[in-house]
Amino acid sequence: MSDIRYDLLHDDYALIAPERLRRPDCFRGGSDDSAMEAFEVESQRSCPFCEGKEYLTPHEIFAIRDNEPDKPGWKTRVVPNLYKAVQIETPWKTEEVGVYEKWNGFGAHEVIIDTPRHLVRMDAWKQEEYFNWLFTLRERLNDLKNDLRLVYMSLFKNHGHYAGATQPHPHTQLIALAVLPHRQVQLLQHAHRFYKTHAHSLFESVLNMELQYEKRIVAQNEAFVALCPYASTFPFEVMIVCKQSRASLHDLGDDALDDLGEMMKRAIDALYDQLGEFDFNILFNTPAMQKNAQTEDFFDDTGAMWRVAVRIVPRLYRLAGFELSSGVKINPVDPDEAARLLRNSIEELS
Ligand SMILES: [Zn+2]
Repeated sequence: MSDIRYDLLHDDYALIAPERLRRPDCFRGGSDDSAMEAFEVESQRSCPFCEGKEYLTPHEIFAIRDNEPDKPGWKTRVVPNLYKAVQIETPWKTEEVGVYEKWNGFGAHEVIIDTPRHLVRMDAWKQEEYFNWLFTLRERLNDLKNDLRLVYMSLFKNHGHYAGATQPHPHTQLIALAVLPHRQVQLLQHAHRFYKTHAHSLFESVLNMELQYEKRIVAQNEAFVALCPYASTFPFEVMIVCKQSRASLHDLGDDALDDLGEMMKRAIDALYDQLGEFDFNILFNTPAMQKNAQTEDFFDDTGAMWRVAVRIVPRLYRLAGFELSSGVKINPVDPDEAARLLRNSIEELS
């Protein structure tokens, strides 16, 4: 059983989830070619996310398929995380422990299996696979926002060992909580203050500035722009921002969703071209899901002050003491140069 603890010293939350320790780490093994080959064969043989292994996962919550659940024949599939950090069946209650405070681990923890294809890199995904993946994420968001207890959803993808993945089969995770982490409160309050002062969103200002400056733009289509953020915290970080006033994935129609998929594909293809095999995280900037005591100051302005944005964060090295103690990341690559190289790759690949 997990719990969410309030960190009195740092004014933040920690999720204590001992079950996560028992996860199999499928990336362990040798690094030479024959060891890699053996690893690939073995990882596919025992993979619970492969087509035909549906019996190895809990019952599916959602799938893009024409036939009955928990059978082969799907394009994407969503299941509860077997090694969940939080669970929806837990009744929601808080407890004081001396000067501390904790909540039991109520929430949702789901795995989105992005494709039936094992070990396929995202640069080998077709445009249709990007759409199916994003369509599935939008469906889960739509469904979970009906649970009025859930306030925050973290939607993310870990690819590779350095990015924290323990399963090589392409998958995305969703963790929804009944509390909004303080970092999220700060970000949303910051965006709200800007909106109240300027009568337009922070994202609009940043996009206008970047579109005018041009040098950090990687690519764009009708609904989305891919750019290397001015203050990128990781080398070759790419942010994909919606040009339209849409706060969350569930506000996007199918055309905009397809545009997002296209921008992500172009950015990922260019990153692979520049970096070769690399580990990365993909982070969706989901806004608060419900109005409550934590969010009442800004919740009603969410649509005007927030924008759909997705960050692709290459994990080229491990975070060290300075980053952990100060919270400030050291990035050795100028974002202008990263954008120039990614644009070159896009040109060569097209
Ligand atoms: Zn697999």
